[in-house]
Amino acid sequence: MKSKTLRKTIEVNSPGRINLIGEHIDYNGGLVLPAAINLRIRLSLKKNYTDTISVWSEDYKKGFKLNLKSIAPSNQQWENYIAGVLFLIDKVVPNKLEGFDCFITSKLPMGSGISSSAALECGIAKGVNALFNLDLSDEELIGIAQQAEHSFVGTNCGVMDQYAVIKGVENGFLLLNCNEHRHTIIPSNLGAHKIVLLNTNVSHNLSTSEYNLRRKECNLALKKIQEVYPEYLFLADVPKSVLLKFKTKMAVHLFKRATYVIEENHRVKKAAKALKKEALRNLGNLMYESHKGLKELYEVSCAELDFLVDFSKTSENVIGSRMMGGGFGGCTINLVHKDYASEFINTASKAYKQEFNIELTPTIVKIGNGVTVHEYEN
Ligand code: ADP
Ligand code: MG
Repeated sequence: MKSKTLRKTIEVNSPGRINLIGEHIDYNGGLVLPAAINLRIRLSLKKNYTDTISVWSEDYKKGFKLNLKSIAPSNQQWENYIAGVLFLIDKVVPNKLEGFDCFITSKLPMGSGISSSAALECGIAKGVNALFNLDLSDEELIGIAQQAEHSFVGTNCGVMDQYAVIKGVENGFLLLNCNEHRHTIIPSNLGAHKIVLLNTNVSHNLSTSEYNLRRKECNLALKKIQEVYPEYLFLADVPKSVLLKFKTKMAVHLFKRATYVIEENHRVKKAAKALKKEALRNLGNLMYESHKGLKELYEVSCAELDFLVDFSKTSENVIGSRMMGGGFGGCTINLVHKDYASEFINTASKAYKQEFNIELTPTIVKIGNGVTVHEYEN
């Protein structure tokens, strides 16, 4: 028999994500190839029968409180990932939230390009959904988490991170159409290769401002094209032959951004085919091409990322490497033969330390499920 003092506890495991290829493509309405990973944020939520939401991050050793009636942006950025989600949930399903305690602990490095931010947003969204029986769909929660990052955090992100964090499946990449918000699963048959992330441990200040600027630049390029071809609703859909007609009609940097987007979208299509056929060398070469585009045309790489990608080319056991995430720091993603993964990590770490006097943080990741939610009483 249940005791009256039993309280519902919600345990959420929310993963980070990788993206094999298709960088900066989600907000341009194209294709991307992400997957959720085995590194996760854990959130534990329990009602506290007050008007206060009380959150503790074990990683920061810091907490904050929010009054249910006055959820607003904070000058502590990390609080905004959570407050933003709660504010928007309260808009979508008014007066359903009650006070609760939330304890957060994480194995996901922050700011390294594996989307601890989306893991946090989606984790809190799924947790609150379960705690208060809100019945919001995954699609609604993805939208809320993305919108929270726009309006409370100030990063105008696309949908990829939140989508991969919520919809990820074990041993599969999501070939995600970011315009239609639908995906197919491609089995992650990487043969003898492991996925090695090399975290540069640098995060140049530019990342948020340049991210938002790239979005703006892509919109400007698209608008120019739409003056003549209104039928193209997304930059990723514009054929290269159409873009070429605008070479002298738009600013050089806008033409470069648009060229990258259109080429990268094609690369994702080719990469998905290569992955299906287990043509892994082709897949790896497409990752190298992606990096070149991000460096030279989209201009979001940095010396540390370029160094690691160049270094990977010195080992025949690495078949592909590129920067991953928004850029200006964070990590590279590398496909490395499993028997040589440690050797590669050691030599890359030494070379990186020698070049920049910074320790590299390597991680071998596995593909895992999207957010999981468990409910129990204690
Ligand atoms: P990424 O998403 O690549 O990790 P972002 O800069 O987008 O990088 O997001 C990182 C931010 O997310 C952190 O600076 C912090 O504000 C927030 N965050 C992530 N994990 C946690 C955590 N465990 N506790 C508190 N805040 C977190
Ligand atoms: Mg992020």
